[in-house]
Amino acid sequence: MSNKKLAAFMESVKTKNPGELEFHQAVEEVAAEIIPFVEENPKYAEAKILERMVEPERVIIFRVPWRNDKGEVQINRGFRVQMNSAIGPYKGGLRFHPSVNLGILKFLAFEQVFKNSLTTLPMGGGKGGSDFERRRKSDNEVMSFCQSFMNELFRHIGQDTDIPAGDIGVGAREIGFLFGQYKKLKNEFTGVFTGKGRSFGGSLIRPEATGYGNVIFAEEMLKTKGDSLKEKICAVSGSGNVAQFTVEMLNKLGAKVITLSDSDGFIHDSNGINAEKLAWVMELKNGKRGRISKYAEKFDCEYSKGKRPWGVKCDAAFPSATQNEISKTDAELLVKNGCQLVSEGANMPTDPAGVTVFLNAKIFYGPSKAANAGGVAVSGLEMSQNSLRLSWSREEVLEKLQEIMKSIHTNCVEHGKEGDFVNYAKGANIGGFIKVADAMLAQGVV
Ligand code: NDP
Repeated sequence: MSNKKLAAFMESVKTKNPGELEFHQAVEEVAAEIIPFVEENPKYAEAKILERMVEPERVIIFRVPWRNDKGEVQINRGFRVQMNSAIGPYKGGLRFHPSVNLGILKFLAFEQVFKNSLTTLPMGGGKGGSDFERRRKSDNEVMSFCQSFMNELFRHIGQDTDIPAGDIGVGAREIGFLFGQYKKLKNEFTGVFTGKGRSFGGSLIRPEATGYGNVIFAEEMLKTKGDSLKEKICAVSGSGNVAQFTVEMLNKLGAKVITLSDSDGFIHDSNGINAEKLAWVMELKNGKRGRISKYAEKFDCEYSKGKRPWGVKCDAAFPSATQNEISKTDAELLVKNGCQLVSEGANMPTDPAGVTVFLNAKIFYGPSKAANAGGVAVSGLEMSQNSLRLSWSREEVLEKLQEIMKSIHTNCVEHGKEGDFVNYAKGANIGGFIKVADAMLAQGVV
């Protein structure tokens, strides 16, 4: 019965949203768990909650014209997907990358609704961005683009309406430029962005939060079997914000990280990426904006051009680059090589066939909407600090992040237990759904 319902539901989603492959993928993964749950709880079926959740409340698409350093006019496309505001204002990052399109942002916004619900904080879901490529652009060009992007976006956001943050291609520099332009246009200093610089309302631990949170979640999974990350060999992909702080926290817990990557290839350092090497990577990526291949030259290790790190033998894997970076073949390789845990720092980094491999092998699999929720959780804490006009200490924020990651883990176990095994993917979907669905029921057909 459920299978037929899933097929019919997906048929309608695909017809209404043609060509949006990543959105179809994200919806199907959730619907496969939620449709049987809704069948057992008819109040959600009668109110068509799932059908309403796949329809964004609002989508804004706009032109972003700007001039490069040669004075030539450039045109990009800007987006904001305001997906669901049942439990709080829209909240979710901005992504600047040439691959950005409506389908990718709808998948990210849809995932964000469940993730934000899991954090226990009052945040709805949204996502936005542009097909702007920041690589090889000067600071001045990035600023011109950000200002033009905000010239339209400012009308649609606000501290009680929609609070964007960073994502791929949007780090501290871009958020500074975006926030500056918002402030100029609105003539008000409010907590409309998270991930801000420390000197203008940013929270301590926000840059670290996604990577740290993912490692805390992984440690919680291992704890259920009396194990820990100490001395585990770990493969990490990406070398941006999430990857960097994943490595930092893994090092703190006594694990050994042996890989990092970027869109050109990956490095394999069997001696481990210690604190000193990580500091060098941070300067390379955040300061010089260089390629990870330089690491192999500097520290004399292997570099594999155009490849991902999943063929390297490891105990645990932390995909932290982008969507669909682990295929079925990659997943099979990881399992064959003895990998016991996969915890997702990136959003939807494992494709559906890969997820099935992990679930069938019964390894620990932490899906992104649970495992990487630490970033948005600390964004929620940044919003609270801004409203209170207060700044909490590192220790206070870290303690709250730890509590939130533990509570997300507990929620996943509660809804994902299948005998001795915990299906965290199922747990996260159902756990995230209930709170949003109940709020939608209470608010009527709106
Ligand atoms: P960054 O831009 O800081 O880093 C992204 C990294 O991934 C870079 O190393 C980049 O390489 C690599 N990458 C990007 N696109 C591709 C691609 N198509 N193929 C291979 N590698 C790629 O982004 P973040 O670290 O912030 O984000 C990484 C992931 O984590 C994303 O999926 C994001 O949605 C997710 N996430 C981020 C959060 C945050 O707080 N920042 C919160 C929750 C999830 P290159 O430099 O070559 O482009």
